Amino acid sequence: MLTAMIVHCHGRHSTILACAHREIPPLHNMVAVSGGPNVPVAPYATFGSEELAEGVVRTLDGRFACLMANHGLIALGPKLSVAMAIAEEIEEQGAVYCGTLAIGGPQLLDRAEMDRILKAFGQYGQRDAQS
Ligand SMILES: [Zn+2]
Repeated sequence: MLTAMIVHCHGRHSTILACAHREIPPLHNMVAVSGGPNVPVAPYATFGSEELAEGVVRTLDGRFACLMANHGLIALGPKLSVAMAIAEEIEEQGAVYCGTLAIGGPQLLDRAEMDRILKAFGQYGQRDAQS
């Protein structure tokens, strides 16, 4: 049986983006710690509701993190330290994205580059799991 530890927080920048229903796009290689090329936004539903949980699971779609509309951030990993590290990095990427919006918006990495990064991160992940 697979288990996952979940971190949920209302970090300032991820919450700003969640309230604007703006995903974090592929603007930096570290976005890939989410397990995908972006960090999408789950649809709004009342906190603690089954509807919210179902929306988050659908939005994650195999990723390790997503934003929750008008709410905050959720991240998961095989152990708490990993989930926490992912949450911290996604909050940082949210801050970077917000910063770029103030100066005209980011220049995004293309899908082929994000795929290379995701592949490389997969190898890092396997090393981390062995340590
Ligand atoms: Zn919350």
